[in-house]
Amino acid sequence: MHYFSYKGNVLYAEDVPLEALAREYGTPLYVYSKATVLRHIQAYKKAFCGSGGILCFALKANSNGAVLKLLAEEEAGADIVSGGELFRALKAGISPSKIVYAGVGKTAAEIEFALKKKILMFNVESGEEMEAINRVAGGLGVKAPVALRVNPDVDPRTHPYISTGMKKYKFGMPVEDALEFYGKAAKMEHIRITGIHQHIGSQLTDLAPFRDSLKKLLPVVEKLRGSGIDLKYLDLGGGLGIRYSRDENPPVPSQLAGSLLPLIKGLGVTVVVEPGRSIIGNAGVLLTKCLYRKSTGEKNFVIVDAGMNDLLRPSLYGSFHEVLPAIKSRRAFQVADVVGPICESGDFLAKDRRMPVVKEGETLCVMGAGAYGYSMSSNYNSRPRGAEVMVDGKSHRLVRRRETYQDLIKGEL
Ligand SMILES: *Cc1c(COP(=O)(O)O)cnc(C)c1O
Repeated sequence: MHYFSYKGNVLYAEDVPLEALAREYGTPLYVYSKATVLRHIQAYKKAFCGSGGILCFALKANSNGAVLKLLAEEEAGADIVSGGELFRALKAGISPSKIVYAGVGKTAAEIEFALKKKILMFNVESGEEMEAINRVAGGLGVKAPVALRVNPDVDPRTHPYISTGMKKYKFGMPVEDALEFYGKAAKMEHIRITGIHQHIGSQLTDLAPFRDSLKKLLPVVEKLRGSGIDLKYLDLGGGLGIRYSRDENPPVPSQLAGSLLPLIKGLGVTVVVEPGRSIIGNAGVLLTKCLYRKSTGEKNFVIVDAGMNDLLRPSLYGSFHEVLPAIKSRRAFQVADVVGPICESGDFLAKDRRMPVVKEGETLCVMGAGAYGYSMSSNYNSRPRGAEVMVDGKSHRLVRRRETYQDLIKGEL
């Protein structure tokens, strides 16, 4: 569910016409709907937090401070994968006691930062990382709270670049090595074992892989109990998909909870969930303007002012985003590629798309761009990044200004 819809022929974000935002703030422009973000946060809270669970938003999906503020106000936590994300989460007012830290390559400096801020736990991805955390914690004279990220070797049936829970990927430790791993960690002086973690992939549209994965973790939890290691937290990861195209019908948070929570009923653990995409994905759109049109005889191209540096997902994963006109009108249809100005043939937002013939200067809305949109953007081709706007009912405000040419060179010496 989201609050981007046509009223008559005009596409709105809540009560604001997107065309008006494009005119006021320029394009490319990311537009977020506050009501949509809040709705998704509340859906997760209702599904998981009633029973004491902790909602940790995955910052890498979207780390704009205005989005994070909404999460902080809703008392949500954060799932971070870098020191920079920890900095942002804290700055937005997210409580460190609700921050979990994953990622295969945490540096000593990042570990120290997280220990000093007293985060909830590290989701540890290798034996050497565990030793490094033990070492850094020792230096500070503290005990580091850790969970092991277990790789259950379950196929999440999603794009390979966003699959994580299979042995061929770099994430976590094989589930069959988990007991040995915990045994070693238990002997480390500056490690406090607090949990177990899984995150098997992203844009999952089926509940079965979540269940299969959890079922592989549960025997580990039981066996650890038998050997005197009691886990407080069971971190289920994120990964719930959103609807990018009409033929996708992903489950909602209540269905995810309904599928997973019965499996751990009576286990006495606190559940952690780490959604990113399903909170912010369809709470954001990317507005772009058609610059030119051309046909090569073989193909029609709609050339727009947003490229792969603004929204990388189509180029990186071949992912599908709906592209809608900000103002609908009666017109003929065509099949076209919607492409950006970047000098790469892989620079496209839509391929072989059946769409209304686009007019020069027309505003187009790339739907479902709230997650892994701005957060993956770059300055490639020395393009200043676009602006971000938050809509709240009838009002709207700039939450990140458009970059300037000066911004492009600000760190250069
Ligand atoms: C990326 C990531 C998430 C969030 O994934 P979504 O598909 O956006 O929900 C959660 N946990 C970890 C460890 C991640 O790396």
